[in-house]
Amino acid sequence: MHRFFIRQPISDCVTLRGEDVKHITRVLRLREGDTITLCDGQNHECTATIETIAKDAVDCRCSTPMLCETEPDVRVTLFQGLPKTGKMETIIQKCVELGIDTVIPMRTEYCVVQPKESFGDRIERWQRVAEEAAKQCRRGIIPKIGNLIKITDIDMSAYDLCLVAYENERNTSLKESLRAFTGTSIAVLIGPEGGFSVTEIEQLEQKGVQSVSLGKRILRTETAGMAMLAQIMYEVDG
Ligand code: SAH
Repeated sequence: MHRFFIRQPISDCVTLRGEDVKHITRVLRLREGDTITLCDGQNHECTATIETIAKDAVDCRCSTPMLCETEPDVRVTLFQGLPKTGKMETIIQKCVELGIDTVIPMRTEYCVVQPKESFGDRIERWQRVAEEAAKQCRRGIIPKIGNLIKITDIDMSAYDLCLVAYENERNTSLKESLRAFTGTSIAVLIGPEGGFSVTEIEQLEQKGVQSVSLGKRILRTETAGMAMLAQIMYEVDG
């Protein structure tokens, strides 16, 4: 069934407007009497029957809301070293499918791209990518895209566990670092194409961030986050 996110709590009657109306009438060509799924983005969903279709509004009658069953037990935030143009869309789309909670673009020493201003447009576009992906894979929330942050400004105390994927880590595997984990939130740091500097890794470790290996091969920045997220869900999500 087609899924729509609404920005209000689910009630008996809900009116859809704007892009959703266009999508329902022009793309999906739904009619009065057809059913859709509505999700409030707060992990509740319901089946809704389309009652009336007007030019700029679609009125729906909703069933009793239920909890979505698709959200993972653990909230993972990905701090993604800013990659070259175009890669971030793929990273966001795939990470939303894999259960990410938040993606935050991160500026590091070796970022090839060093943006200055006018980043707002990009965040908005990436947020739309997250919403599309969340609809498609039936998430109960729309994962958030945060504003660009400098690696040194991240507040590590906000997470139960902080992990940095480091290709030169020889001792600790991701599996080992997750074995004793019992919390509910994890921060994951992935370097850009150029990787992390040694200083950056040292500074992170001083803040209690654990450096982990993702295996013997060097993964591309856009592969590393997805691979790590899939493995975290395998280990931690019940
Ligand atoms: N410039 C580096 C590779 C960077 S790969 C080089 O050529 O050696 C980009 C990012 O992916 C890294 O910063 C790291 O966060 C992650 N990554 C890739 N392969 C990894 C591995 N085997 N173990 C841990 N992290 C890895």
